[in-house]
Amino acid sequence: MREFLRRFSWRHYQLKRHALADADWQHACAHLPLVTAMPDAAQQQLRELSTLFLAQKAVLPADGFALSTAQQIEIAIWACLPVRQIGLAVYASFHAVIVYPDEFLAPREEIDEAGVVHTGHEQVSGESWDAGPILLSWADVEAARIPDGYNVVIHECVHKLDLTDGDMNGVPTLLGRGIAPSEWQQVMRAAWQTVGQEEKLLGYTSVDDYALESPAEFFAVLSEHFFTAPAELQADLPAAYALLERYYDQRPLDWNWAAIDAAYPKHEPDDSGYRRSGAEH
Ligand SMILES: [Zn+2]
Repeated sequence: MREFLRRFSWRHYQLKRHALADADWQHACAHLPLVTAMPDAAQQQLRELSTLFLAQKAVLPADGFALSTAQQIEIAIWACLPVRQIGLAVYASFHAVIVYPDEFLAPREEIDEAGVVHTGHEQVSGESWDAGPILLSWADVEAARIPDGYNVVIHECVHKLDLTDGDMNGVPTLLGRGIAPSEWQQVMRAAWQTVGQEEKLLGYTSVDDYALESPAEFFAVLSEHFFTAPAELQADLPAAYALLERYYDQRPLDWNWAAIDAAYPKHEPDDSGYRRSGAEH
């Protein structure tokens, strides 16, 4: 009880001390119909988590970029959305988010068959380091204002969730989520096979093809769809959708999609011609 009270008062103190200005919060949300279409209680929860996220993490511009407070809040909102019910403690492994104006060059190292190490760079829109920061391209954060299955912040944050059991292998810590690891693997494996078959037979997939890079990318890409194109994910991969609903303890299908679609009247669910240009990791 004493521990509960201590934590409660610390959270209360942090929320007061780092409170976001109403104008900044509203400015950030004005671009995000997905957020304003959520129930009021969920929006309030997201605002509190975003406040604590920005109090705990540094969201820093790189490469001559400058970030407004509203832009920092926008990044915090997407970062906090997947952990709205899970809590911020799962993000304890990183302390910074570095934001480039656009896609950026990330160092790469490859070992060929002869065992020779090749070093180089790859253009990417986002990256999550195992024991380090998240790197983002602002142009890609901005592109995710239209909810269509692509969201670089959610993608990179899901890699952090994935790492909570020590490995980035497509399986996060499931403690307290009411899901057995064997069930997770069974559902995700079946979904992987479905998507793999689609690619083989049709040449494209109902989710971004990038999902098939690895089980870790599969979890990240499916999560992007879960939050930003849930009806499509539920129609294409119902068991995976249901599993993610239990894991995240959220029901994106219940949000006001009529309002979201009204904000983007020309929006069509993007099934094949994906906008993702740079790679993500
Ligand atoms: Zn990735």
